[in-house]
Amino acid sequence: MEKRELIYEGKGKKLFKTDDENRLIAVFKDDLTAFNAEKRGNEDGKGALNCKISNQLFRLLEENGIQTHLIKTLNDTEQLIKKVNIIPIEVVVRNIATGSLSKRLGIKDGTVLPFTLVEFYYKDDSLGDPLINDEHCLLLDLVKSESDLEELKRLGREINSILKSFFAERELKLVDFKVEFGVDKDGNILLSDEISPDSCRFWDATTNEKLDKDRFRQGLGNVKVAYEEVLKRILTHK
Ligand code: UDP
Repeated sequence: MEKRELIYEGKGKKLFKTDDENRLIAVFKDDLTAFNAEKRGNEDGKGALNCKISNQLFRLLEENGIQTHLIKTLNDTEQLIKKVNIIPIEVVVRNIATGSLSKRLGIKDGTVLPFTLVEFYYKDDSLGDPLINDEHCLLLDLVKSESDLEELKRLGREINSILKSFFAERELKLVDFKVEFGVDKDGNILLSDEISPDSCRFWDATTNEKLDKDRFRQGLGNVKVAYEEVLKRILTHK
């Protein structure tokens, strides 16, 4: 598969065309950003760790019936993926209150939620990715119909239930995470982007130590050590 021109560069990845119009190559970057890219950083080897972590988790989800854009991992930092049109909605799924949820609604940090909360954010950097409701999604034409929104919520909850029990067996609490979906040439909704400590919050089950991007955002240090620990636990066979 030949890597051709760069078509997109985001905070965590670059996307390149290939000689097949339905396939792209995603390259995971070492860059880290926090709070709408105000704080930037770089952690050597982070891209390779996220590439491995996301590969493992997408495989796990595929085995459990979730369709994804991933075709195969090519090397340490590159994945061959199906070309999709990304739905500009960040689907955030939460088990424990923290971050923007605690700030916005005054829910005490660390409160276990009585049910899985699914939220939609409009993927638009210039607007600061605002929280939106179902009607905003329809008003902005982000999806074709209300049933697509129901499907995004169903997929978010299903992914959560698979990942939550997988991580619980590995002594990690899946606090919350963000996923993105895309529509392929046949109209299928596929899990896209990545699932990694850049897009999830993982707390150690016993100590509540943060093993995710909050180590960078909150200046806690040892970012790479934490990502390595998450990968190590993912690779533990249960
Ligand atoms: N998240 C993300 N990208 C974003 C915003 C949030 O991956 O642009 C993830 C974040 O890592 C966390 C979850 O979504 O796992 C919920 O984030 P929150 O709304 O609490 O915002 P934050 O406090 O991270 O700014």
